[in-house]
Amino acid sequence: MAKIIDGKAIAAKIRAEISAEAARLKEQGIVPGLAVVLVGEDPASKVYVSMKEKACADVGIFSDEYKLPAETGEAELLALIEKLNADPKIHGILVQLPLPKQINTERILEAISPEKDADGFHPYNVGRLVIGKPLFQPCTPYGVMVMLKEAGVELSGKEVVVVGRSNIVGKPVAFMCLQQNATVTLCHSKTRDLAGKVAQADVVIAAVGVPEMIKGAWIKEGAVVIDVGVNRVGEKKLVGDVEFAAASERASAITPVPGGVGPMTITMLLQNTLESAKRGM
Ligand code: NDP
Repeated sequence: MAKIIDGKAIAAKIRAEISAEAARLKEQGIVPGLAVVLVGEDPASKVYVSMKEKACADVGIFSDEYKLPAETGEAELLALIEKLNADPKIHGILVQLPLPKQINTERILEAISPEKDADGFHPYNVGRLVIGKPLFQPCTPYGVMVMLKEAGVELSGKEVVVVGRSNIVGKPVAFMCLQQNATVTLCHSKTRDLAGKVAQADVVIAAVGVPEMIKGAWIKEGAVVIDVGVNRVGEKKLVGDVEFAAASERASAITPVPGGVGPMTITMLLQNTLESAKRGM
Protein backbone atom coordinates (compact mmCIF):
# COMPACT_ATOMS: atom_id res chain seq x y z
CA MET A 1 0.00 0.00 0.00
CA ALA A 2 1.33 3.44 -0.93
CA LYS A 3 2.41 6.00 1.62
CA ILE A 4 0.18 9.09 1.43
CA ILE A 5 2.01 12.33 0.63
CA ASP A 6 -0.01 14.68 2.84
CA GLY A 7 -0.24 18.07 1.13
CA LYS A 8 -2.12 19.62 4.02
CA ALA A 9 0.59 18.71 6.50
CA ILE A 10 3.42 19.84 4.20
CA ALA A 11 1.59 23.11 3.44
CA ALA A 12 1.07 23.73 7.18
CA LYS A 13 4.78 23.19 7.84
CA ILE A 14 5.85 25.57 5.04
CA ARG A 15 3.29 28.18 6.12
CA ALA A 16 4.66 28.05 9.69
CA GLU A 17 8.16 28.69 8.28
CA ILE A 18 6.85 31.58 6.14
CA SER A 19 5.10 33.04 9.17
CA ALA A 20 8.28 32.90 11.26
CA GLU A 21 10.31 34.49 8.46
CA ALA A 22 7.69 37.23 7.93
CA ALA A 23 7.87 38.00 11.67
CA ARG A 24 11.68 38.29 11.42
CA LEU A 25 11.35 40.65 8.44
CA LYS A 26 8.82 42.76 10.33
CA GLU A 27 11.39 43.37 13.05
CA GLN A 28 13.54 44.90 10.30
CA GLY A 29 10.65 47.09 9.17
CA ILE A 30 9.67 45.03 6.11
CA VAL A 31 6.19 43.61 5.60
CA PRO A 32 5.89 41.41 2.50
CA GLY A 33 3.01 42.71 0.37
CA LEU A 34 0.84 41.00 -2.24
CA ALA A 35 -1.61 42.84 -4.52
CA VAL A 36 -4.50 40.68 -5.70
CA VAL A 37 -6.48 41.95 -8.67
CA LEU A 38 -9.88 40.51 -9.53
CA VAL A 39 -11.84 41.68 -12.55
CA GLY A 40 -15.51 40.69 -12.70
CA GLU A 41 -17.71 38.37 -10.72
CA ASP A 42 -16.59 34.83 -11.59
CA PRO A 43 -17.68 32.84 -8.49
CA ALA A 44 -14.70 30.44 -8.48
CA SER A 45 -12.27 33.36 -8.88
CA LYS A 46 -13.92 35.17 -5.97
CA VAL A 47 -13.42 32.10 -3.76
CA TYR A 48 -9.75 31.76 -4.79
CA VAL A 49 -9.10 35.45 -4.13
CA SER A 50 -10.64 35.32 -0.67
CA MET A 51 -8.65 32.15 0.14
CA LYS A 52 -5.45 33.93 -0.94
CA GLU A 53 -6.24 36.96 1.22
CA LYS A 54 -6.96 34.83 4.26
CA ALA A 55 -3.76 32.84 3.73
CA CYS A 56 -1.76 36.10 3.57
CA ALA A 57 -3.32 37.39 6.80
CA ASP A 58 -2.60 34.07 8.56
CA VAL A 59 1.16 34.29 7.89
CA GLY A 60 1.64 38.05 8.33
CA ILE A 61 1.78 39.05 4.65
CA PHE A 62 0.05 42.31 3.78
CA SER A 63 -2.50 41.87 1.00
CA ASP A 64 -4.13 44.64 -0.97
CA GLU A 65 -7.21 43.72 -2.90
CA TYR A 66 -8.46 45.40 -6.08
CA LYS A 67 -11.93 44.34 -7.18
CA LEU A 68 -12.77 45.83 -10.56
CA PRO A 69 -16.10 45.61 -12.42
CA ALA A 70 -16.50 43.07 -15.25
CA GLU A 71 -16.62 45.85 -17.88
CA THR A 72 -13.18 47.23 -16.89
CA GLY A 73 -11.13 48.11 -19.98
CA GLU A 74 -7.61 46.93 -20.72
CA ALA A 75 -6.13 50.45 -20.42
CA GLU A 76 -7.58 50.84 -16.94
CA LEU A 77 -6.17 47.50 -15.80
CA LEU A 78 -2.77 48.31 -17.33
CA ALA A 79 -2.76 51.63 -15.44
CA LEU A 80 -3.43 49.80 -12.16
CA ILE A 81 -0.59 47.35 -12.85
CA GLU A 82 1.77 50.25 -13.61
CA LYS A 83 0.84 51.78 -10.26
CA LEU A 84 1.42 48.47 -8.42
CA ASN A 85 4.73 47.90 -10.24
CA ALA A 86 5.95 51.20 -8.77
CA ASP A 87 4.52 50.69 -5.26
CA PRO A 88 7.31 49.84 -2.78
CA LYS A 89 4.84 48.17 -0.34
CA ILE A 90 3.98 45.56 -2.99
CA HIS A 91 6.39 42.67 -3.61
CA GLY A 92 4.03 40.42 -5.53
CA ILE A 93 1.21 41.13 -8.00
CA LEU A 94 -1.39 38.54 -8.85
CA VAL A 95 -4.05 39.06 -11.50
CA GLN A 96 -6.69 36.38 -11.04
CA LEU A 97 -7.45 34.52 -14.26
CA PRO A 98 -9.58 34.17 -16.33
CA LEU A 99 -9.98 37.82 -17.35
CA PRO A 100 -13.09 39.10 -19.18
CA LYS A 101 -13.06 38.82 -22.99
CA GLN A 102 -12.31 42.48 -23.75
CA ILE A 103 -8.93 42.18 -21.99
CA ASN A 104 -5.91 40.57 -23.65
CA THR A 105 -4.56 38.26 -20.93
CA GLU A 106 -1.06 38.00 -22.43
CA ARG A 107 -0.69 41.77 -22.56
CA ILE A 108 -1.70 42.01 -18.89
CA LEU A 109 0.64 39.24 -17.71
CA GLU A 110 3.51 40.85 -19.61
CA ALA A 111 2.78 44.24 -18.04
CA ILE A 112 3.45 42.89 -14.54
CA SER A 113 7.02 43.62 -13.54
CA PRO A 114 8.97 40.32 -13.74
CA GLU A 115 10.32 41.28 -10.31
CA LYS A 116 6.80 41.22 -8.83
CA ASP A 117 5.35 38.37 -10.87
CA ALA A 118 4.07 36.25 -7.95
CA ASP A 119 2.42 33.69 -10.26
CA GLY A 120 5.57 33.26 -12.36
CA PHE A 121 3.63 33.51 -15.65
CA HIS A 122 5.63 36.38 -17.23
CA PRO A 123 7.63 35.15 -20.27
CA TYR A 124 10.81 36.47 -18.59
CA ASN A 125 10.21 34.18 -15.62
CA VAL A 126 9.26 31.27 -17.91
CA GLY A 127 12.57 31.79 -19.73
CA ARG A 128 14.53 31.91 -16.48
CA LEU A 129 12.92 28.66 -15.41
CA VAL A 130 13.82 26.99 -18.71
CA ILE A 131 17.49 28.02 -18.45
CA GLY A 132 17.60 26.72 -14.88
CA LYS A 133 17.89 30.12 -13.19
CA PRO A 134 14.40 30.70 -11.82
CA LEU A 135 13.31 33.94 -10.20
CA PHE A 136 9.57 33.43 -9.59
CA GLN A 137 8.36 29.86 -10.10
CA PRO A 138 4.71 29.15 -10.90
CA CYS A 139 2.96 28.13 -7.71
CA THR A 140 1.42 24.71 -8.50
CA PRO A 141 4.54 23.12 -10.03
CA TYR A 142 6.69 24.76 -7.35
CA GLY A 143 4.38 23.09 -4.80
CA VAL A 144 4.81 19.72 -6.53
CA MET A 145 8.59 20.02 -6.28
CA VAL A 146 8.42 20.90 -2.58
CA MET A 147 6.16 17.88 -1.97
CA LEU A 148 8.60 15.55 -3.73
CA LYS A 149 11.45 16.96 -1.66
CA GLU A 150 9.52 16.69 1.61
CA ALA A 151 8.57 13.10 0.73
CA GLY A 152 12.27 12.31 0.24
CA VAL A 153 11.94 11.52 -3.47
CA GLU A 154 15.31 11.86 -5.19
CA LEU A 155 14.80 12.73 -8.88
CA SER A 156 18.32 12.47 -10.23
CA GLY A 157 18.49 9.79 -12.94
CA LYS A 158 14.81 8.87 -12.53
CA GLU A 159 12.24 8.52 -15.31
CA VAL A 160 9.56 11.16 -14.80
CA VAL A 161 6.41 11.10 -16.91
CA VAL A 162 4.33 14.29 -16.86
CA VAL A 163 0.85 14.01 -18.36
CA GLY A 164 -0.46 17.42 -19.49
CA ARG A 165 1.53 20.24 -21.12
CA SER A 166 -0.21 23.41 -19.93
CA ASN A 167 1.86 26.53 -19.39
CA ILE A 168 0.81 26.69 -15.74
CA VAL A 169 1.47 23.09 -14.68
CA GLY A 170 2.75 20.47 -17.15
CA LYS A 171 5.49 22.40 -18.97
CA PRO A 172 7.00 24.15 -15.94
CA VAL A 173 6.97 21.01 -13.77
CA ALA A 174 8.72 19.12 -16.59
CA PHE A 175 11.53 21.72 -16.67
CA MET A 176 11.79 21.71 -12.88
CA CYS A 177 12.24 17.92 -12.89
CA LEU A 178 14.80 18.20 -15.69
CA GLN A 179 16.70 20.71 -13.57
CA GLN A 180 16.80 18.04 -10.84
CA ASN A 181 18.46 15.69 -13.38
CA ALA A 182 15.42 13.50 -14.07
CA THR A 183 14.81 12.15 -17.57
CA VAL A 184 11.47 13.68 -18.45
CA THR A 185 8.74 12.58 -20.86
CA LEU A 186 6.04 15.20 -21.40
CA CYS A 187 2.77 13.63 -22.60
CA HIS A 188 -0.39 15.25 -23.97
CA SER A 189 -3.59 14.47 -25.83
CA LYS A 190 -1.76 13.37 -29.00
CA THR A 191 0.69 11.07 -27.20
CA ARG A 192 0.59 7.50 -28.51
CA ASP A 193 0.50 4.65 -26.00
CA LEU A 194 0.08 6.78 -22.89
CA ALA A 195 -0.33 3.63 -20.78
CA GLY A 196 3.05 2.36 -21.98
CA LYS A 197 4.73 5.70 -21.22
CA VAL A 198 3.24 5.87 -17.71
CA ALA A 199 4.30 2.27 -17.06
CA GLN A 200 7.97 3.29 -17.54
CA ALA A 201 7.80 6.05 -14.95
CA ASP A 202 9.51 6.12 -11.57
CA VAL A 203 7.51 9.30 -10.93
CA VAL A 204 4.17 10.13 -12.57
CA ILE A 205 2.87 13.71 -12.47
CA ALA A 206 -0.71 13.98 -13.73
CA ALA A 207 -2.10 17.39 -14.76
CA VAL A 208 -4.81 16.58 -17.26
CA GLY A 209 -8.21 17.59 -15.92
CA VAL A 210 -9.96 14.30 -16.82
CA PRO A 211 -11.33 12.34 -13.84
CA GLU A 212 -9.33 9.17 -13.09
CA MET A 213 -8.06 8.81 -16.67
CA ILE A 214 -4.69 7.44 -15.49
CA LYS A 215 -5.42 3.87 -14.52
CA GLY A 216 -3.98 2.19 -11.46
CA ALA A 217 -2.91 -0.77 -13.60
CA TRP A 218 -0.58 1.53 -15.64
CA ILE A 219 1.50 2.46 -12.58
CA LYS A 220 4.85 0.70 -12.19
CA GLU A 221 5.29 -1.15 -8.85
CA GLY A 222 6.93 1.27 -6.41
CA ALA A 223 6.44 4.43 -8.51
CA VAL A 224 5.62 7.79 -6.93
CA VAL A 225 2.37 9.39 -8.11
CA ILE A 226 1.61 13.11 -7.91
CA ASP A 227 -1.94 13.95 -8.92
CA VAL A 228 -2.47 17.63 -9.72
CA GLY A 229 -5.95 17.10 -11.17
CA VAL A 230 -9.00 18.46 -9.41
CA ASN A 231 -12.21 17.26 -11.01
CA ARG A 232 -15.70 17.71 -9.62
CA VAL A 233 -17.80 14.58 -10.00
CA GLY A 234 -21.47 15.01 -9.14
CA GLU A 235 -22.50 17.60 -6.57
CA LYS A 236 -19.79 17.33 -3.96
CA LYS A 237 -17.13 14.75 -4.81
CA LEU A 238 -13.65 15.78 -5.97
CA VAL A 239 -11.40 13.29 -7.74
CA GLY A 240 -7.98 13.54 -9.31
CA ASP A 241 -6.69 12.52 -12.73
CA VAL A 242 -5.45 9.19 -11.33
CA GLU A 243 -7.51 6.19 -10.25
CA PHE A 244 -6.49 6.64 -6.63
CA ALA A 245 -7.48 3.34 -4.98
CA ALA A 246 -6.02 1.12 -7.72
CA ALA A 247 -2.87 3.25 -8.08
CA SER A 248 -2.32 3.10 -4.29
CA GLU A 249 -2.02 -0.68 -4.57
CA ARG A 250 1.05 -0.34 -6.81
CA ALA A 251 2.68 3.01 -5.97
CA SER A 252 5.16 3.51 -3.14
CA ALA A 253 3.79 7.00 -2.46
CA ILE A 254 0.82 8.98 -3.77
CA THR A 255 -0.91 12.31 -3.26
CA PRO A 256 -4.63 12.25 -2.43
CA VAL A 257 -7.30 14.50 -3.97
CA PRO A 258 -8.33 16.59 -2.11
CA GLY A 259 -5.55 17.22 0.40
CA GLY A 260 -2.61 16.67 -1.95
CA VAL A 261 -1.26 19.28 -4.37
CA GLY A 262 -4.22 21.64 -3.80
CA PRO A 263 -3.10 23.10 -0.43
CA MET A 264 0.42 23.66 -1.79
CA THR A 265 -0.53 26.16 -4.51
CA ILE A 266 -1.49 29.08 -2.28
CA THR A 267 1.36 28.20 0.08
CA MET A 268 3.85 28.72 -2.74
CA LEU A 269 2.21 32.04 -3.63
CA LEU A 270 2.99 33.14 -0.07
CA GLN A 271 6.52 31.77 -0.44
CA ASN A 272 7.00 33.70 -3.72
CA THR A 273 5.85 36.94 -2.07
CA LEU A 274 8.17 36.39 0.89
CA GLU A 275 11.15 35.61 -1.36
CA SER A 276 10.43 38.73 -3.41
CA ALA A 277 10.33 40.92 -0.29
CA LYS A 278 13.69 39.48 0.78
CA ARG A 279 15.19 40.10 -2.65
CA GLY A 280 14.08 43.73 -2.42
CA MET A 281 15.92 44.32 0.90
P1 NDP B 1 -5.22 22.30 -19.19
O1 NDP B 1 -6.61 21.99 -19.61
O2 NDP B 1 -4.64 23.62 -19.50
O3 NDP B 1 -4.24 21.20 -19.84
C1 NDP B 1 -4.57 19.85 -19.82
C2 NDP B 1 -3.49 19.06 -20.50
O4 NDP B 1 -3.88 17.69 -20.49
C3 NDP B 1 -3.26 19.43 -21.97
O5 NDP B 1 -1.88 19.51 -22.22
C4 NDP B 1 -3.92 18.30 -22.74
O6 NDP B 1 -3.25 17.98 -23.95
C5 NDP B 1 -3.74 17.15 -21.78
N1 NDP B 1 -4.75 16.12 -22.01
C6 NDP B 1 -6.09 16.27 -22.08
N2 NDP B 1 -6.69 15.08 -22.33
C7 NDP B 1 -5.69 14.17 -22.41
C8 NDP B 1 -5.68 12.78 -22.65
N3 NDP B 1 -6.79 12.09 -22.83
N4 NDP B 1 -4.47 12.16 -22.65
C9 NDP B 1 -3.33 12.84 -22.44
N5 NDP B 1 -3.29 14.17 -22.19
C10 NDP B 1 -4.47 14.82 -22.20
O7 NDP B 1 -5.16 21.95 -17.65
P2 NDP B 1 -4.28 22.55 -16.43
O8 NDP B 1 -2.85 22.17 -16.60
O9 NDP B 1 -4.65 23.94 -16.18
O10 NDP B 1 -4.90 21.67 -15.23
C11 NDP B 1 -4.82 20.27 -15.21
C12 NDP B 1 -5.54 19.76 -13.98
O11 NDP B 1 -4.89 20.26 -12.83
C13 NDP B 1 -7.00 20.19 -13.86
O12 NDP B 1 -7.73 19.18 -13.22
C14 NDP B 1 -6.93 21.40 -12.95
O13 NDP B 1 -8.12 21.60 -12.23
C15 NDP B 1 -5.81 20.98 -12.03
N6 NDP B 1 -5.11 22.09 -11.40
C16 NDP B 1 -4.95 22.03 -10.06
C17 NDP B 1 -4.28 23.02 -9.40
C18 NDP B 1 -4.10 22.91 -7.94
O14 NDP B 1 -3.83 23.88 -7.30
N7 NDP B 1 -4.21 21.70 -7.38
C19 NDP B 1 -3.77 24.21 -10.11
C20 NDP B 1 -3.91 24.13 -11.55
C21 NDP B 1 -4.58 23.10 -12.16
P3 NDP B 1 -3.20 18.98 -25.21
O15 NDP B 1 -2.19 20.03 -24.85
O16 NDP B 1 -2.74 18.12 -26.33
O17 NDP B 1 -4.58 19.54 -25.38
